[in-house]
Amino acid sequence: HFLARAKAHQNLGAFVSLNEDATLAQAKAADALIAEGKGGKLAGVPIAHKDIFVTKDFPTTAASKMLEGYRSPFDATVVRKLADAGVVTLGKLNCDEFAMGGANENSAIAPVGFDSAQPVRNPWDTNRVPGGSSGGSAAAVAARLAPAVTGTDTGGSIRQPASFCGITGIKPTYGRASRYGMIAFASSLDQAGPMGRSAEDCALLLSEMCGPDLDRDSTSLDVPAEDFSAKLGDSIEGLRIGIPAEFFGEGLSADVRTAVDAALKEYEKLGAKLVPVSLPRTELSVPVYYILAPAEASSNLSRFDGVKFGHRAKDYADLNDMYKKTRAEGFGDEVKRRIMIGAYVLSEGYYDAYYLQAQKIRRMIADDFQAAFKDCDVIAGAAAPTTAWAIGGKADPVSNYLADIFTLPASLAGLPGMSLPAGFGEGGLPVGLQLIGNYFSEARLLNAAHRFQ
Ligand code: GLN
Repeated sequence: HFLARAKAHQNLGAFVSLNEDATLAQAKAADALIAEGKGGKLAGVPIAHKDIFVTKDFPTTAASKMLEGYRSPFDATVVRKLADAGVVTLGKLNCDEFAMGGANENSAIAPVGFDSAQPVRNPWDTNRVPGGSSGGSAAAVAARLAPAVTGTDTGGSIRQPASFCGITGIKPTYGRASRYGMIAFASSLDQAGPMGRSAEDCALLLSEMCGPDLDRDSTSLDVPAEDFSAKLGDSIEGLRIGIPAEFFGEGLSADVRTAVDAALKEYEKLGAKLVPVSLPRTELSVPVYYILAPAEASSNLSRFDGVKFGHRAKDYADLNDMYKKTRAEGFGDEVKRRIMIGAYVLSEGYYDAYYLQAQKIRRMIADDFQAAFKDCDVIAGAAAPTTAWAIGGKADPVSNYLADIFTLPASLAGLPGMSLPAGFGEGGLPVGLQLIGNYFSEARLLNAAHRFQ
């Protein structure tokens, strides 16, 4: 059913690879296990992975020409854990190149059914972006090409596309899900998470995705996986929802604000209390993130040099020329921009002024959250300042960066955050409500989302 839907709706550009034989073989194996009563918790559930997770059965590109034709000899931990729970993999989903972007317009790989790279289309209005970088993931769930999918979130890439496509997605506390086999963008920020139709579905997947992977990921936390479904139905009577003034100021479009305000009223009806809080450095999260993430990216992407794997230029004079041509050909514009910013802020003479300064403010942003959580249990606001914009409508990179303002603070602090459908804005486009919790409060976030849904 889902393979047929993926093909029927390939105009969306959501999938970058399908492998029907592999999928059907996995489905048969799942059927056999179910028949013997040995299927895992997610036995036979078809899902698809963002093409940033390495997979044995499917090519892995990170939506970059640099990795076109690359086959991983192993599965990412998240992929393996879900496979152990019994899922069947439908295919790999489009994203921004190396997860750099917020509109899924930066993919350099031709999606299934196309012979050149395409922006992913938002199923609610195919002239609009689905958000990014997990845009293929969000579009696939919204168009019911898969019941649920994986995504990754470095600065909002699960929450913002979930918001633009009217679905639910959660980024857990940094370190809960293993980064092993997740192609690195900014290692101190990258986290995997599920995206689905509901908090209930996300809870099912997240319970299988988390857990320690200490030998393979040095930032993996030694915190056991939880059953995130267990508390979904709990009452939220008395839940204190912090409303940061900085999330409701200038820049938040009126239609998004109206939908978010209405959602918050619903929460009050469910017994929650709205408490004013302050996250005074919200604005600084944009410059801080766009220094730290490119700095880490410039270091992580140095491995793509034409020597070990991926693309290699055909004609070159010597080793340096090979590096230069390979990287000039293999990386797209946004990736090059980030590498240059990153190399600059890390260079001698600028390190103290930019990188070190950004690290200090990052700590202050995390401290601001701890101050706010003295007065509230969760923090709520819009996931993004606007609804989905038109494809090609935000050509300037800085305007793209500014649109990340509400998702970046939780990323910098390493906190769990989610987006759930709050209602609709102008033109009937989905609006996402963002909930941010303290470390390890995923169960509470999912509970709050589930009660609303
Ligand atoms: N939009 C942000 C960026 O371009 C976030 C991307 C992400 O979370 N992977 O970096």
